[in-house]
Amino acid sequence: MSKRDYYEILGVAKNASEDEIKKAYRKQAIKYHPDKNSGDKAAEEKFKEAAEAYEVLSNADKKARYDRFGHAGVGGAASGGGGGGGGFGGMNMDDIFSQFGDIFGGGGFGSSRQGRRQNRGSDLRVRVKLNLKEVAEGAEKKIKLNRYVACKPCNGTGAQNGTARENCGTCRGTGVHTRMQQTILGTMQTQSVCPSCGGAGSVIKEKCKSCFGDGIVREDDHMVLNIPAGVAEGMQLSVGGKGNAAARGGINGDLLVVIEEEEHAELVRDGSNLLYNLFINFGDAALGCNAEIPLVEGIAKVKLDAGVQSGKVLRLRGKGLPEVNSHGKGDLLIKVNVWTPSSLTSEEKKMMEKLRESKNFVPNPGKKEKGFFERMREYFD
Ligand SMILES: [Zn+2]
Ligand SMILES: [Zn+2]
Repeated sequence: MSKRDYYEILGVAKNASEDEIKKAYRKQAIKYHPDKNSGDKAAEEKFKEAAEAYEVLSNADKKARYDRFGHAGVGGAASGGGGGGGGFGGMNMDDIFSQFGDIFGGGGFGSSRQGRRQNRGSDLRVRVKLNLKEVAEGAEKKIKLNRYVACKPCNGTGAQNGTARENCGTCRGTGVHTRMQQTILGTMQTQSVCPSCGGAGSVIKEKCKSCFGDGIVREDDHMVLNIPAGVAEGMQLSVGGKGNAAARGGINGDLLVVIEEEEHAELVRDGSNLLYNLFINFGDAALGCNAEIPLVEGIAKVKLDAGVQSGKVLRLRGKGLPEVNSHGKGDLLIKVNVWTPSSLTSEEKKMMEKLRESKNFVPNPGKKEKGFFERMREYFD
């Protein structure tokens, strides 16, 4: 199943402003709102799809990751690890209303759901180290995670037996704390969220013995992360809903997977290209030679013609790394370096003296060699 482009879903241009994105989402959300399309599954999917697009495009950090890495950068990197809630597919209606409820404005749409604002658990961050082969092919990484999950005995409510709640005495179940104040202008009424129940209107009568009323407990969780090919050092993948659970019910935070790259002994990465420094001696350069080049997997044999110049760059097409957001593949660039010995025997010195006098050894670079720096720029652009 391939996901649609978020900009396409909202019908905005890539350079759309924050305000344009918000307006576009509002339009979609109203059009496909469940209050207006009761029982219409297709509309519900559209509604969720728009919310998912807005979730990413309205967040500067997520938007930047999406622009760079596509869907892989913002979700759906996990599988397994105990079902439900994973990825964006798990974004349910309550999540949408609790996160974006205010976009519908006061009254009208969504008003029936006000007061259902939910807590959100904190995000978790894990670091995953990959070697070059894993970067090239993508990897399945098993991780162990200690995170907060909903307490099972109380079903995350924090109340013993899951039901033992009673009306809050402070606010008498309204969740609102109202104060009357006598001022010189007359009686003033101020309202705030009830401090005793945090606006819930009810409090726990008897706290759950397993979680002491928090509704969450720490647990070791095992998970398999599917890391797509082509990821890079510092890149952050996010797995929706796999972070910490929220206290006493709410939506889970996200799991953020930070990529670390193990350095390869011989190959240096430059985006999707790989660079290799090949060292040959005078004799090989003058007479031509065969060289073995390390690849991510295996080796390549390369023939160097007689008279190859130091600094020449050879390109092995498609032998680099895959690009994370497309089907493209980078190249392996081989830079030829003619290596000069730093000590010589007296016999070698004599031979060199002789060669130095030869006409063929007078440097006579052609236009090609002189344009080397320009070519370098081309290669690395
Ligand atoms: Zn509990
Ligand atoms: Zn209260």
